[in-house]
Amino acid sequence: MEKILDVQDLKVSFHTYAGEVQAVRGVSFYLNKGETLAIVGESGCGKTVTSKSIMRLLPEPMPAEIKKTTKILFNKNDILKMNEKELRKLRGADISMIFQDPMTSLNPTMTIGKQIAESLIIHRGMNKQEALDEAIKMLKLVNIPNADKRANQYPHEFSGGMRQRAMIAIALACNPKVLIADEPTTALDVTIQAQIMDLIKELQKNLGTAVILVTHDLGVVADVADRIQVMYAGVVIERGTTDEVFYNPKHPYTWALLKSVPRLETGNKDVLYALGGTPPDLIKPPIGCPFAARCEYCMEICKEIMPEATKLSETHEAKCWLQHPLAPKEGVPEGVNE
Ligand code: SF4
Repeated sequence: MEKILDVQDLKVSFHTYAGEVQAVRGVSFYLNKGETLAIVGESGCGKTVTSKSIMRLLPEPMPAEIKKTTKILFNKNDILKMNEKELRKLRGADISMIFQDPMTSLNPTMTIGKQIAESLIIHRGMNKQEALDEAIKMLKLVNIPNADKRANQYPHEFSGGMRQRAMIAIALACNPKVLIADEPTTALDVTIQAQIMDLIKELQKNLGTAVILVTHDLGVVADVADRIQVMYAGVVIERGTTDEVFYNPKHPYTWALLKSVPRLETGNKDVLYALGGTPPDLIKPPIGCPFAARCEYCMEICKEIMPEATKLSETHEAKCWLQHPLAPKEGVPEGVNE
């Protein structure tokens, strides 16, 4: 498989009055052409900062700072070395992004059709009429009924689900190689969430766009993602294929995320698991495992030394002392390492 995106040693800090917040602390990953990678974790884990870094949408150089050792390669070109003109071409034409709340991303004073047409005129050099015709085709592609009529309406005339479909149409209008979807369904009802995820999956299959899906909800990604990487306190703590992460998870934080996903087969009788405690302060990140304060399996070594990633298969790895070959075996709870 050919890599389209290669993120190497991403380190991002925010300079605040309280001190330097190390929001992302050495994250590396890649995205292959046409695949879907899910980045999962709770609020503040660094997943959105990671996705915004790829688009260079952080307020750099202050208060956000991407460290000099980081490389973000798109088709082997370092995004961090691009000038404004190159970045404008990249955003929209090569990499597009959709956000959680389409109402704040759409222009309330412009019709939906014109908003889709705008990027076609800028990036694909179409004239106004060609762009408006293409906009209607895009609205049909994302299953908006009466697309001809809807193209002349404003965002407030669309329902939440239709607004998110319109955002997807704008994002895909220029046929980008990569689509970054940051919590695309969080603001929507459960049934609409499922429809939007199905739509992303279908479009990804038909158009061959590679997708990075950023979410706090592991349940959302099960049917869509090829691979999953779980982030906690600015680092990747586990990654693997979707089957590996769902059926053979190896990090206690992933176990906690999975326990908090509602399951149909229990008929909603189970009380959902809620992980206690809070993530560590990233102004002074812990020297050991960042999950130690909330982990029921925590050993002495966990508080003192950050575990390296242990390779569990070609595609699966976890940063946890329970999986490490050098872990003190007497501290490993029975059964968890099998
Ligand atoms: Fe828990 Fe230790 Fe593993 Fe961290 S390294 S997740 S504290 S067992």
